[in-house]
Amino acid sequence: KLYNQVQDLKGSIRVYCRVRPFLPGQKSISTTVDNIEESTISIATPLKYGKETQKSFTFNKVFGPSASQEAVFADTQPLIRSVLDGYNVCIFAYGQTGSGKTFTMMGPNELTEESLGVNYRALSDLFHLSSVRKETFSYSISVQMLEIYNEQVRDLLVTNGQTSRYPFLRLVTSVNSLDGINVPEATLVPVSTTSDVIYLMNLGQKNRAVSATAMNDRSSRSHSCLTVHVQGKDLTSGATLRGSMHLVDLAGSERVDKSEVTGDRLKEAQHINKSLSALGDVIASLSQKNNHIPYRNSKLTQLLQDSLGGQAKTLMFIHISPEIDALGETLSTLKFAERVA
Ligand code: ADP
Ligand code: MG
Repeated sequence: KLYNQVQDLKGSIRVYCRVRPFLPGQKSISTTVDNIEESTISIATPLKYGKETQKSFTFNKVFGPSASQEAVFADTQPLIRSVLDGYNVCIFAYGQTGSGKTFTMMGPNELTEESLGVNYRALSDLFHLSSVRKETFSYSISVQMLEIYNEQVRDLLVTNGQTSRYPFLRLVTSVNSLDGINVPEATLVPVSTTSDVIYLMNLGQKNRAVSATAMNDRSSRSHSCLTVHVQGKDLTSGATLRGSMHLVDLAGSERVDKSEVTGDRLKEAQHINKSLSALGDVIASLSQKNNHIPYRNSKLTQLLQDSLGGQAKTLMFIHISPEIDALGETLSTLKFAERVA
């Protein structure tokens, strides 16, 4: 109980760690994950990789490889529901490529009822709760879907393969925008059913894939963001409220060996590196209660500004690949999270 209060005082930044299971083809590979408890993960470095060590990290929650999508969502639900009370919420998926970010947010490629990720469950839950409250509150919910690639913002909800009227979108500081919308040029779609959401997510995924070639999977090198805007009206008092939620599947956090890449690949790597460190800096300054929060250092942090800090609630899912080969990235992911937790 006291622990929770202390966490709340530290600002509303929560960190959940999720460990991916080994994939079907991967048998008898050794792992770096030595032990998982409620909120602690221990990583072991075996002797043959240098000095044998063991290090533990503590977060708000650790989900092991067998945690279901439902269980992961259950711990996220209260945060999501607060959007209907007018809070701004931001949920990130952080980790190296292949660690399970898209699985957490969207699900696997072949979706089933059980494997639906946070994005789908979040919207279904908002629809459900708004209908439960319909005698007292009237809500309207709409979404935008954006991609940030090389510090440029693109609209993912354009239809018929058309490119947006604006190839790159302008960000406005939503603190100054009356309706809370900080990318006014991006398509904004009202949604009220789960099938609306499934249609839009497919459209977004398709638009994202258009710009990628098979060998050049751009999805791991861009950030994608589903933004949910909620407007509510209290039917008794007439008072209105507004909440928003950003659900962000971040670009892969793996370090790219600068001696091995050139040209476009190097440029991408530099942009990713810059925006992920800008995000880390913003969250770290918020948890240290600094006066100056460096939002303006990247498009990502500008986009999310209204959902980071102040009364906003932030949750970061960090993802761990279990394989021994991933040890270096695993430790750097855990250290990133330790800094912001
Ligand atoms: P990322 O988005 O971080 O690059 P993915 O979400 O695409 O990683 O995950 C890589 C692979 O692992 C995919 O095939 C995905 O379906 C699978 N996977 C990830 N997390 C889990 C999980 N918790 N349970 C089962 N399969 C998972
Ligand atoms: Mg992915």
